[in-house]
Order: sequence, then structure tokens, then C-alpha cells
Amino acid sequence: MNKIEHIGIAIKDATVSIPLFNKLYNTEPYKIEMVESENVKTIFYQVGPNKMELLEATSPDSAIAKFIDKKGEGIHHIAYDVDDIYKEMERLKTLGFQFINEQPKNGADNKLIAFIHPKSTNGVLIELCQERKS
Ligand code: ZN
Repeated sequence: MNKIEHIGIAIKDATVSIPLFNKLYNTEPYKIEMVESENVKTIFYQVGPNKMELLEATSPDSAIAKFIDKKGEGIHHIAYDVDDIYKEMERLKTLGFQFINEQPKNGADNKLIAFIHPKSTNGVLIELCQERKS
């Protein structure tokens, strides 16, 4: 793993949270993208060298809606940048880590992503992400 690529924060309502985070970061989101397959709206901020992702559910079936029902708003996942997501998944599976999705899938912001189940990582949801080569 190379570095933290971004931190994901679950929010209830983007119309409330965008103005809040605009003030906090003193900048506006550089990208807002719907991920239809996950039923989420993603809102990206660049904060110095770091990237933050706000996640709002667009349907009650969304994993984000379920997360907020259970735990409330807050930090949802930590994403790590990897060079080769297939190799890294293979390496971690061999070591016994459980993945939520068995194959990488298309995520927001031009990434291939995979989530490690928080059961295998002390309750922290971890996302691996690799820049999609287009
Ligand atoms: Zn993410």
C-alpha cells in the first residue's frame, strides 16, 4: 500500500454538509459524482495534499444509509492507494482478510476499488483503490 488515498465520511444530507465542509476546508468540492451501483453521491475535496470524500445515500438500500442508521454520521472508511489492486487483493486474501466484493469494481473519481470487511480489520472499513487506466 502506498499511502492513504482518501478518508470517506458518511453524511445524511449533502445540502447541509457541503456548506459546512466548504467553511471548514475554505474551498469547494472539486468533484461531485453519483455512483449508481452503490446508490451514493460522492463529494470530493482536496485539502492540501489530502483528499476527503463525503458520502450521501441516494436510496434507503445504500450501504451508507444502513451505516448511518447503525452508527450515525462520521468516518466511514479509509482508502489506501495501491499499484495493482488484483495483486494486493490476492496477497491479502492469502493472509485471511475477507473482502466485501470478490472482484474490484468501478468506484468514483476514476478508481478501481475493493472493500475489506471490517470484521477482519478491527472494525475499520478499508478500501483499496487503484487509478483506472483508460
Ligand atoms: Zn472511498
